[in-house]
Amino acid sequence: MTARIIDGKAIAADLRAKISAEVARLKSQHQFTPGIAVVLVGADPASEVYVRSKAKAVAEAGMRAFDHKLPANINEAELLALIAKLNADSAVHGILVQLPLPTHIDAHGVIAAIDPAKDVDGFHPLNAGALARGLPGLVPCTPLGCIMLAKTVHASLAGLDAIVIGRSNIVGKPVAQLLLIENATVTIAHSKTRGLPALCERADLVIAAVGHPEFVRADWIKRGATVIDVGINRVTESGKSRIVGDVAFDARDVAGAITPVPGGVGPMTIACLLLNTLRAACMQHGLPEPKL
Ligand code: NAD
Repeated sequence: MTARIIDGKAIAADLRAKISAEVARLKSQHQFTPGIAVVLVGADPASEVYVRSKAKAVAEAGMRAFDHKLPANINEAELLALIAKLNADSAVHGILVQLPLPTHIDAHGVIAAIDPAKDVDGFHPLNAGALARGLPGLVPCTPLGCIMLAKTVHASLAGLDAIVIGRSNIVGKPVAQLLLIENATVTIAHSKTRGLPALCERADLVIAAVGHPEFVRADWIKRGATVIDVGINRVTESGKSRIVGDVAFDARDVAGAITPVPGGVGPMTIACLLLNTLRAACMQHGLPEPKL
């Protein structure tokens, strides 16, 4: 059996085209342009790459980008003052603070200072709480992308036996909460979980967000299961560096459908950031949520 490859790149491109069309409609019919402020503190090379690709996607969607590059030694009060300014700026509908922040800054405090209505990363405690309660709010981008990809395989996730491997606030927990909202039966596994292979073997849907290269082995996957691989791990072999996921490459011989790495969840994360910015902008202008 060879799994169907879930083409995240193509699915994200399709979503981005719909978002661009909606942005154009808002400009012509409602005279405003959705805008996002991206705040980068310091010069972490990986964060710089992420921020650059986000800025490019924002521009391609016809949205406004407000870039704030701050030195690594900025103090917390200065960063909080910038957040307050962005909260008050009506041209800024979304605020994204690229993580990780330098260790002298309390990241939780900074995220909590963002206006929840502009929290396009969905990390604010109010949005996290709304998600836990199954209430409307802004949902973290990567988990949202995972669910959209799973739904390209399953018209409904209701009743599926799902396992989420990883319980981070950024991926594991919110994706598990979204699966609950979709009425899946959810197991959350983490570093202290016992008997992970057996738990995995039961699952119709596996979402791996561990951060260890090819951690989930092919023989843990139930034949025909859907596998969403969130991992982005750089490995170097014989002097050559490449990106691999959290799931072993040969899992595609067993799974029914699987996301590739790269080209699976990654592109959806950026598309969902644009979607959240569009949603936030519509909410702030008293417009209904766009149906894409
Ligand atoms: P994290 O380090 O915050 O969390 C990893 C989780 O894995 C933890 O909850 C931990 O309990 C669990 N874990 C660790 N060892 C385990 C083990 N032996 N058995 C079971 N569980 C174990 O990482 P994260 O931020 O959630 O990211 C996970 C992966 O997803 C990383 O590779 C990251 O680069 C990637 N990621 C990708 C995107 C994307 O857009 N594709 C976005 C965010 C994160």
